[in-house]
Amino acid sequence: MVFLKVNFGGFVPLSTVDWRGRAVCTAFLRGCPVRCHYCQNAAILDGKDEREVDEVLAMIEESALVISGVVFSGGEATMQKEALLALAKGVKKMGLGVGLQTNGVYPATIRALLEEGLVDKISLDLKTQWRHYNNLLKKDFADRVKESLLLCTEAHHAGRLPEFEAVVTTFRGCEDDIAYIAKDAESVDLVLQQGVIAGVAPLDFEELAAIADRLGRSVRIRTRQDGEVAYEGRRIVRAESIRDQERRSEQ
Ligand code: SF4
Repeated sequence: MVFLKVNFGGFVPLSTVDWRGRAVCTAFLRGCPVRCHYCQNAAILDGKDEREVDEVLAMIEESALVISGVVFSGGEATMQKEALLALAKGVKKMGLGVGLQTNGVYPATIRALLEEGLVDKISLDLKTQWRHYNNLLKKDFADRVKESLLLCTEAHHAGRLPEFEAVVTTFRGCEDDIAYIAKDAESVDLVLQQGVIAGVAPLDFEELAAIADRLGRSVRIRTRQDGEVAYEGRRIVRAESIRDQERRSEQ
């Protein structure tokens, strides 16, 4: 029994879109210190709905037969460090994988999860290039997110974090930021996620692919219309064919 409260935001018993390749359930933890104008979960950024950690674990257990993992999302799940650690421990005891969607502003929670081997996948939001970060978030969070990126990248390369992706929600008019963000995330998987906001036409797959082409690297492109697509990039394909030609001429 764990006598610890969690500020609960909601629960989806079965999802096939929150963790690529897995059926999972998704638990939302309430509260977030950031206020993104495009937030899809604005209803759970504030307020209180306290539940016992065991109650949430019981919900997860009911799905356990049909899932292989649990994704913690929000709000910002890492804001509730002790509750999240207890939940992740409980999930691990069930033999399930633990995923986390985070904005990275609580690196101490991420560090604890990694040190205790309690997380298998982290999706880290990178919201803009560093020099605009604090201005965009209206808070002094850039250094904390940098620390989270470093922690996750190091853990991933050391094999302590099996899956790690940097996720950039991409809006029309902000395309120029992507090259700066991609440079900081050059050694990890990068997801270009279509940003949707009232009054601005969202970038479509072809437009996001054109951004990826300029980066000259493979990315995953997520749009409402096409779902998630692994995009290798026209430039990368060309580069490979040049290498192939060179190899052929050496033979
Ligand atoms: S960081 Fe995430 S949960 Fe928080 S306001 Fe932004 S989009 Fe919403």
